[in-house]
Amino acid sequence: MVSSCDCSTAAREVWGVTLRPLPKTVAPLPDELLSGWLSRLSAVNYCDVVELLAHIEIDTRHGATLDFDVDAAAAERISRATRVAPEIVRSLSFGTMTPPEALLTAQVPFQSCPECSRRRLSLRHWRRVWAFDCQVCGTRLVRILARPDDERVPERLLSRARRGAGLLEHAARYNCTIRLRRAMRAVTFGMALKSVCGNPSFALQSPRPDVRLFCLAAIAAAQSRPLAKAAISSAGVDDYARVALLRTFEKEPRLLAAVDHIAQRRARSTSLMTAESRN
Ligand SMILES: [Zn+2]
Repeated sequence: MVSSCDCSTAAREVWGVTLRPLPKTVAPLPDELLSGWLSRLSAVNYCDVVELLAHIEIDTRHGATLDFDVDAAAAERISRATRVAPEIVRSLSFGTMTPPEALLTAQVPFQSCPECSRRRLSLRHWRRVWAFDCQVCGTRLVRILARPDDERVPERLLSRARRGAGLLEHAARYNCTIRLRRAMRAVTFGMALKSVCGNPSFALQSPRPDVRLFCLAAIAAAQSRPLAKAAISSAGVDDYARVALLRTFEKEPRLLAAVDHIAQRRARSTSLMTAESRN
């Protein structure tokens, strides 16, 4: 086994297998994701990623999982082929994450920066469900394969969603259980109002930009006013949404009671107003 990464020798012996360095290499950029860097490497070597992984003798079925955990053997192989230190290769994957970080990190790409994508970049922070603006160029991240009309979003919703995203990031980064629970409860509330089912972290990666933005905005709304009141009074809840809300919180009796109380009071005041206007 050869310990040096000297590229003057055409072939290397790695764990008994001959591995030829790639003709061309590129240095990884700050915050670049391993799969993104492998994609750039394949482009400069005029092949696709599957061929590149096959050359490095990494099972291509494991290509997508490399972003989350690249083991020492795979890192060494990539290092030999690219002449980049194995510890740098490993730093391009997410590695060990706290449970909230893992929950709020997308397994597959769901958004990207239109500017940086033109340079074939794929950055790690784009996978975080709280990521809103590109940390490299400041452009707002857009969902993968965005339609032109997706971008016509009210400025007010955008600014609330950006604020909610910041709050979620802070809670996740500092592993603040109370704030995280509050944020995810707000997301669940937002999902109920949008008639969306499933896991809240998936709603934050929703291919529907209105769902993602609304759920992020709900996090911001929940900071300043009681959640139930904020959601119900700002969204004009109809009977269908009320049932959805009640179903959402059926396992949280205190919240369920609050939601029901507010909804009933609101319904009573609406019917009173209607009656008065008739007299
Ligand atoms: Zn960018």
